[in-house]
Amino acid sequence: MAEEHLDILAGGRWITGHSGDTFEDRNPADRDDLVAVFPAGDTVDVAECVEAARAAYPAWAATPAPRRADYVLRVGLALERDKEDLAALMAREMGKTLKESRADIQEGIDFAFYMAGEGRRMFGVTTKSELPNKFSMTLRHPIGIAGLITPWNFPIAIPAWKIFPALVSGCTVVFKPAEDTPLLALRLVRMFEEAGLPDGVLNFVTGFGEPAGSALVDHAGVRCVSFTGSLQVGRQVAERCGRAMKRCSLELGSKNILIVMPDADLDLAVEAGAWGAFATSGQRCTATSRIAVHGRVLGEYRKRLLERVATMKVGPGTDPGVELAAVINERQKARILEYIEIGRAEGATVLAGGHALETGEHAKGNFIAPTVFGGMTPGMRIAQEEIFGPVTGLIEIGSVEEAIEVANSVQYGLSAAIYTHDVSSAFKAIEGLEFGVVYVNAPTIGAEVQLPFGGMKCTGNGHREAGPTALDEFTEWKAVSVDFSGKLQKAQGVE
Ligand code: NAD
Repeated sequence: MAEEHLDILAGGRWITGHSGDTFEDRNPADRDDLVAVFPAGDTVDVAECVEAARAAYPAWAATPAPRRADYVLRVGLALERDKEDLAALMAREMGKTLKESRADIQEGIDFAFYMAGEGRRMFGVTTKSELPNKFSMTLRHPIGIAGLITPWNFPIAIPAWKIFPALVSGCTVVFKPAEDTPLLALRLVRMFEEAGLPDGVLNFVTGFGEPAGSALVDHAGVRCVSFTGSLQVGRQVAERCGRAMKRCSLELGSKNILIVMPDADLDLAVEAGAWGAFATSGQRCTATSRIAVHGRVLGEYRKRLLERVATMKVGPGTDPGVELAAVINERQKARILEYIEIGRAEGATVLAGGHALETGEHAKGNFIAPTVFGGMTPGMRIAQEEIFGPVTGLIEIGSVEEAIEVANSVQYGLSAAIYTHDVSSAFKAIEGLEFGVVYVNAPTIGAEVQLPFGGMKCTGNGHREAGPTALDEFTEWKAVSVDFSGKLQKAQGVE
């Protein structure tokens, strides 16, 4: 049974969408299962949310940061309390396995606790003036109203990565979640309501990228846009924010790589490849979509990886025995299958999978068998373009230098990993890889909230979420000087 909602939140009032149009939220593992129906927000709804955020801004910006952070702490505790319930909903609404759903929520909890502490830090610097009796320091200043736009693959963690630091910074927020996972987003927003967050500080609009997302990007009242999603949409967001001189932070696609050197622990490297490529059915921005293996161990690695992949149970994420769950929607399923055909046409060999699963228990969902290509070469489209599905490929390399060159040959740069026990290879990779996140003897997935997260090149525009950099998206630096000399002092030696 579908849950019906009045679910645009503007200034503390839950309202139906202005147009009356709605959209369906369905279970990716069972298309007959209608999870909820939501209003398709439009420019009028977005404007109402921005107006509410504008009205709430002065009081919120003036609220002491430790008090602002208290609300985030309370939401962290509520996430902890409701973790199992939310995990079950996530496995149903987004489709990922229960284990991974719990991890998604745990990331939200970890980050809530981390950001709650940040409310009592927000450190600036003090420095020396070149003039006597003059004091200098830096302060963070909230940037204003923040428009937050999120994808569906981490339905709690990614909204948390944006909402928590925006609020601690003193921004008021309009949040538009992905159209595939609005109910989890709604639950998160309701937790802020339960925590007593003042009306208008967090506003919530559901709907599609066009018109709701783009209206949020374009609204003159929004001073900063934080966007996670595809490169294609990210480019448009960057262009529009650029014209309007808005702060814009982008976390976009990637083409991540696992490098396996001949001295690696092969069992660990196989587990890392299988987990990195097929967790969340490859729908992680850090998913291992290329595995570059040294020629000396390629045969053995391929054999063990295929044995491991053959053990993977594919099915609904709600089934605790399942390792590989459904992909998010039919459009994404078709896109992944198209890439598999492109790989075949380019001359790569399908060693495992390579097809949809559409009969029996898989008949009603968006299932694709875990797919491994052999004979992938660096220039192929399947080695260059983001597929965002359960597809990976083996590339043969002959040295760490060659592996780094192959790794860096793509337009993206989010996550790269190397398996080796050779300290020189490890450090060459650490130095040479043009990726924002680098692992040695750990898979490409599994970021922790206390580290900065983001990518180089077309994966983003230089911003980093989480970690000590989390507030940078939502604050301006203010340089403050206090002259207590009692006279007019001029810098740079002017008499
Ligand atoms: P998407 O770009 O289609 O959509 C992302 C969000 O943008 C959704 O909320 C959507 O409604 C909205 N949107 C769409 N068109 C818009 C427009 N014209 N203006 C404003 N908003 C618009 O991406 P997706 O399919 O939801 O997510 C998958 C992509 O996200 C992949 O490319 C993946 O790599 C990327 N991703 C990146 C990271 C990261 O941190 N680098 C993390 C997760 C996902």
